[in-house]
Amino acid sequence: MSAPQAITASLAEVRARIAAACARAGREPASVQLLAASKFQSPEAIRAAYAAGQRQFGENYVQELAQKAAALADLTELRWHLIGRLQTNKVKDVVRLGCAVQSLDSLRLCEALAQRAAAAGVRLPVYAQVNISEEPQKAGVAPAELPQLIAAARSASSLDVRGLMAIPRPSEDEAEQRAAFRRLRALAAELGLPELSMGMSDDLELAIEEGATMVRVGTALFGARPPQG
Ligand SMILES: *Cc1c(COP(=O)(O)O)cnc(C)c1O
Repeated sequence: MSAPQAITASLAEVRARIAAACARAGREPASVQLLAASKFQSPEAIRAAYAAGQRQFGENYVQELAQKAAALADLTELRWHLIGRLQTNKVKDVVRLGCAVQSLDSLRLCEALAQRAAAAGVRLPVYAQVNISEEPQKAGVAPAELPQLIAAARSASSLDVRGLMAIPRPSEDEAEQRAAFRRLRALAAELGLPELSMGMSDDLELAIEEGATMVRVGTALFGARPPQG
């Protein structure tokens, strides 16, 4: 199988997994968006996924995203999401690239994004990243600090606050995984936020059963990631 054929096949497999999980949960498959997590994948691999119908792609590093956006500028329906940590000195690049930001995790970053987006005259889609398993050193805002961050983001007219994103602590214990997803869903419900970006290659079924509206899938679409470089 050629690389584009392999991506077409794995995209169909992932879509089938999403549909099966939706059926179990009594949900419409259209209620779950698929974000292709394309870090370290080549522009050609992204192009192949796009040709197979995939439109939303998530990258972890601003510089890598900028290079790929330039190489793939002809793919007019491609939408980028930043799903990795964002430093304030990269905020202007992110706004220029017009990508959604799923890693909003501090008031300082919120202010920088709001200012840059306002100056550019755009409304930037953002998701607050929550450190849902409350792990030390892990990216994301602590659940206790989330309401204040959401209030700040909502008060900025240049930000379009969409929902929450989280990467729970990896676990073999299904009950523990579900509990983390459920906590995120409860936080979003309390704050009246419609979108939940949760679930990856290994746990997307559980995430969908617990209410994910977007799953971020890398390995199951593209195969093992090439060594970073
Ligand atoms: C890499 C990555 C993913 C995808 O992980 P897979 O296990 O390869 O599906 C999802 N979310 C984030 C934030 C990532 O960095």
